[in-house]
Amino acid sequence: MEPVWKHTENYSAGREGTSVDRIVIHYIVGTLAAADATFADPGSGVSAHYGIGEGALHQYVSEINTAWHAGDLAMNRRSIGIEHSADPERAPSEDTYEISIELCTRICRERGLDPQTQIIPHGDVVATACPGTVSVRRIRDGVAARL
Ligand SMILES: [Zn+2]
Repeated sequence: MEPVWKHTENYSAGREGTSVDRIVIHYIVGTLAAADATFADPGSGVSAHYGIGEGALHQYVSEINTAWHAGDLAMNRRSIGIEHSADPERAPSEDTYEISIELCTRICRERGLDPQTQIIPHGDVVATACPGTVSVRRIRDGVAARL
């Protein structure tokens, strides 16, 4: 699925010479429309490269640039951040997993990443409940089966 571009000003140009070796998985605690609104607001100070939900794939930041998603500058520079529509009482839909696995497979193939070790939950970076109800294992195993 080709992404639909959505606006954000919340990113840094380039990656300060750092190569991308992680995909960081997040949940929105809301729908994809909520992520669109948050990232479109310069005052929020946050963004991600991609957002998935309600059958759609949105892109906010080019992979060559640094999105503000991990709460850690060094990790932001070395990673691609992907948001998923879900909340504590609502797991991601089957569609959301399918789109995520397709996207992560493409990224892992292009960049030579091992899904089992280089696709990581946000909670591995900083103390956070994110990605909540998103099963990182399911994404890892789905990608591994396709590579
Ligand atoms: Zn997160």
